[in-house]
Amino acid sequence: MRIGRVELYGVELPYAGGTYHLSGGRTYESFDAAVVRIACDDGTEGWGESTPFGSTYLAAHPAGTRAGIAVLAPALLGQDPRRVERVNDVMDRTLVGHHDARTALDVACWDAFGRSVGLPVATLLGGSTDVPMPRISSIHAGEPEEMRARVADHRARGYRAHSVKIGALDAEGGPAHDAERIAASLADRERGEYFLVDANGGLTPESALRLLRLLPPGLDVVLEAPCASWRETVSLRRRCPVPIVVDELGQLDSDLALAAGEDLADGIGLKVSKAGGLTPGRRHRDIARSAGLTVSVQDTVGSSLAYAAILHLGATVPPRLLRGVLDCEEMVTVRTATLDVRVADAGVLPGDAPGLGATVDPEVLGDPLQVWE
Ligand SMILES: [Mg+2]
Repeated sequence: MRIGRVELYGVELPYAGGTYHLSGGRTYESFDAAVVRIACDDGTEGWGESTPFGSTYLAAHPAGTRAGIAVLAPALLGQDPRRVERVNDVMDRTLVGHHDARTALDVACWDAFGRSVGLPVATLLGGSTDVPMPRISSIHAGEPEEMRARVADHRARGYRAHSVKIGALDAEGGPAHDAERIAASLADRERGEYFLVDANGGLTPESALRLLRLLPPGLDVVLEAPCASWRETVSLRRRCPVPIVVDELGQLDSDLALAAGEDLADGIGLKVSKAGGLTPGRRHRDIARSAGLTVSVQDTVGSSLAYAAILHLGATVPPRLLRGVLDCEEMVTVRTATLDVRVADAGVLPGDAPGLGATVDPEVLGDPLQVWE
């Protein structure tokens, strides 16, 4: 079974909530998805997606994702997609870094692997726990009462975990404004709900400590990605009374080994395209498991195909450590595929369909931007 053809598609994904606001004054209205189809000599196909969160979230941007795929795709022709680690060896030898570009190809190989043996990707990754996974909302930064309303809206749609974005600039009100945002977002908290307060690297140790002093006592939150560098995170960690979750800083295996070995965090945000696909993603899962770090399985953003990869990896995380999965599909207005997903009150699970369980919509994808064969 060999890869004989790689197709690259581009899809624009408008944000479903208008304008998304992140720390540091960053805003986003639409995202560019790179979707890849691999076709094998035995007729098996596989699909994968990588959608950067604009150009100001990680060291990735949509044109770079497409350019990286153009470098990697020719090297994968003739490779067996079932040998996922060896496919990643080829990508290592072809292009350093560029996890976003590698992700679409890596995920497409897992999808093809699953389709070829008639098993869901979650089974190939070790097997689904069959415990429904809470969905995590993504509450962008705004006025406190607006954020409270968005949490309530997601609560009404069945979300049991919420990622509340903070990181107000001084001109926006600084730590005092962030404290109001957090208090408002948790004002109607229900039993069993879980709140991540996510600064996306927008705080300094100084502003984070000021913020924590301004919070009403007893709020049950964890602080995600407070600072933009490891140095700042180490400094804050020594003085921070709430759990810290690493997200943007945890990109390499060695980042997670550092976080675990030096006890710099209590959990990780495991984003598939930040890790570089499901192959490194399962290592991050296992490092977290070995260290007792909690895990929320996410992606930077993305459509149905990215959500499918999240579901299959998330389902293999031990429930004791899994905090939830990001429903990125609901963050955007375009569906690239119909998914085999089981939805219950307690959460979501991938279905039993082979591969990612995704039936891609060719109308949405249109013609490929580029083809290699
Ligand atoms: Mg985050």
